[in-house]
Amino acid sequence: MGIQFNGIAGPAETRDWRQAITRGVKGRCPHCGRGKLFRAFLKPVDLCESCGEELHYQRADDLPPYIVITIVGHIVVGGILLAEKYADWSMGLHMVLWPALTLVLSFLLMQPVKGGVIGLQWAMRMHGFGGEPDRPERQPLPSPRPRS
Ligand SMILES: [Zn+2]
Repeated sequence: MGIQFNGIAGPAETRDWRQAITRGVKGRCPHCGRGKLFRAFLKPVDLCESCGEELHYQRADDLPPYIVITIVGHIVVGGILLAEKYADWSMGLHMVLWPALTLVLSFLLMQPVKGGVIGLQWAMRMHGFGGEPDRPERQPLPSPRPRS
């Protein structure tokens, strides 16, 4: 563990992004690896129950579905092409197998992928994970000067 200067709050530990992603994929807090990351299927906890890390800063948004679509698309489309070339399956089997495989793989991958994205965001100190607010507080606009 080296020390780096984050420019805002003084020296900060470097965060191992591989370890953070691995912990997130396993559904564990990216900081300590012990506390649960999710309180529901895709709802992350606000605070780690084990180390108190504030996890509500995560902004995984649409990235996990994009990653899941990319992975599942390659598996399913590749499978369809292989089956078309090397197997002689009935149209009925194709129509049952590929949509079912798509649904099952998507549900299985969604939570681990979202956990990995949150782990990466934590390791990269994104969105307040670095101790600074996501965006500066809104300042009231100066009132316009009356024209003379
Ligand atoms: Zn923790």
